[in-house]
Amino acid sequence: MPKESILVVEDEEDILELVKYNLAKEGYRVSGATSGEVGLKTARSSLPDLIVLDLMLPGIDGLEVCKILKNDSKTQHIPVIMLTAKSEDSDIITGLEIGADDYLAKPFTPKVLIARVRTVLRRKAKANVKETATVRVHDIVIDPGRHEVTVAGEVVDLTLTEFLILHLLARHPGWVFSRYQIVNEIRGEETIVTDRAVDVQIVGLRRKLGDAGKYVETVRGVGYKLSE
Ligand code: CA
Repeated sequence: MPKESILVVEDEEDILELVKYNLAKEGYRVSGATSGEVGLKTARSSLPDLIVLDLMLPGIDGLEVCKILKNDSKTQHIPVIMLTAKSEDSDIITGLEIGADDYLAKPFTPKVLIARVRTVLRRKAKANVKETATVRVHDIVIDPGRHEVTVAGEVVDLTLTEFLILHLLARHPGWVFSRYQIVNEIRGEETIVTDRAVDVQIVGLRRKLGDAGKYVETVRGVGYKLSE
């Protein structure tokens, strides 16, 4: 199973490269952004599993980026590790208050960085156990614990991949998921790696859901959503 994806937001190129290099070496899928604006855009489009966020950024600074991320239902679940200079004690406190999960004071060693990243991701994985909660949308009921889906009380037999796609869409009704995000969600469970394969799964899913299949909507040029 591929490791988690991490977005690093840091304007100092050498630090950015150093952090990216060390995370990639550990097997994480890493992307970078050199400004708060680009960082926000990337976070919203790729929904990484973790964000390493420098506080000192030109334009929108790190605290502002963190605040925006934590106030957006789409991104608020993404853990944030702040990078700070020693003199930024008050920023650390503010950052933690507005929802950052941890911080690292510069200069830091790759070892400490990796340890922090692991801890935060582990904590997040534990929190994700909550995703075994039953999801109800329209007359569709998804029970992740029992891996069971019913529509108007009737059990629907889905493949694991169809189940994962439906669960992903149903956790956030109205949100549009790109094929890329869908592939990311289910990768490692079954071999489904292309956009076309996602389309095929959606066709199967709609058919099996019967009347409720209409709630799985195609958003042209973007991806799929479950209507609210
Ligand atoms: Ca900086």
